[in-house]
Amino acid sequence: MSVEGPARQMCAERSRGVLRALTAALIERYRDRLPVTATTPVVTLGEGSTPLLRAPRLARAAGLRELWLKWEASNPTGSYKDRGMTLAVSKALEEGAQAVLCASTGNTAGSAAAYAARAGLPAVVLTPQGAVSGAKLAQTRMLGATVLEVRGDFDEALAAAQELAARGTHVLVNSLNPYRREGQKTAVLEIVEELGAPPDAFVLPYGGGGNTSSYAQALRELGVDTPLVSVEAARRRETLATAIRIGAPVHAAAVAAAGARIVAADDDELVAAWRRLAVEEGLFCEPSSAAGLAAVLRGDVEGERLAVTITGHGLKDPAVADRLAPPPALVDPDPDAIAAASPSARSGG
Ligand SMILES: *Cc1c(COP(=O)(O)O)cnc(C)c1O
Repeated sequence: MSVEGPARQMCAERSRGVLRALTAALIERYRDRLPVTATTPVVTLGEGSTPLLRAPRLARAAGLRELWLKWEASNPTGSYKDRGMTLAVSKALEEGAQAVLCASTGNTAGSAAAYAARAGLPAVVLTPQGAVSGAKLAQTRMLGATVLEVRGDFDEALAAAQELAARGTHVLVNSLNPYRREGQKTAVLEIVEELGAPPDAFVLPYGGGGNTSSYAQALRELGVDTPLVSVEAARRRETLATAIRIGAPVHAAAVAAAGARIVAADDDELVAAWRRLAVEEGLFCEPSSAAGLAAVLRGDVEGERLAVTITGHGLKDPAVADRLAPPPALVDPDPDAIAAASPSARSGG
């Protein structure tokens, strides 16, 4: 059966619109709000335009009218870092860079490696020794980056990267790179567009603070005065949330100047929020990514319509899940044994 007339036209328009949203490079979608020109080479892997998911169960639990989760795990390398990296690597290519360089707890590494490969540039990645998840390292190595484990923590690796970049041989693509922060503004633009208005607050994890300063910049540029709540690990240097295990946040001054509210969550709260997000809403993120939700579930964020950013995918840092989630029971391939070991089927109502 064929669809005729106005219905057919509507379907065609809708599918064109959806295709545009799903396949467009972030730089194309927000060209007018980003520092690019018609001749900037666009290095893209189809980043941005991530789902904004309503979380009704967790909203009820937190006494909220609406809880919206910005699912940044669906970016090409599994974290929001791709929003900034598309711009940083495009501009590096435009400016004739020979190589890109970063220090990373893992997600910047994977993203830099992917976009550098896409651009045909070498990438050098410095990781604090023993502090990066095996999955993120495998991703970064597979993407062809030169991975150097630094005898030191993240802050020391970043200082070394800055010193090397200052010599002019490598372009630094950490969030100190202003193009990274420009690209990361787009999450806020997407959320406001999709909700039709700013939420009562934006809530996100606080590691180095680059993303918080990007969100603040986006709000300033939109002329919107909405609270920004930035949630850090209570014990920054020891937290199990490796993506925010950063002792000295390099953007602390910018975060303070932006007027973001800083909230701390301890590891027990992070893990509890992280589990609830998985079990009650079906979203498996990495532990750091649940920081914003931890503050919301504690009742620490005012407002009844909140947008919480979930920054990275659980598959990128599965070690904690492997340790904490219930292990499988061993059964024979027998329906009675399987039924006996299963939760009883949910009855109606
Ligand atoms: C980088 C990262 C963070 C922290 O972001 P900052 O900009 O450093 O504050 C949080 N979660 C994930 C998954 C990350 O990759």
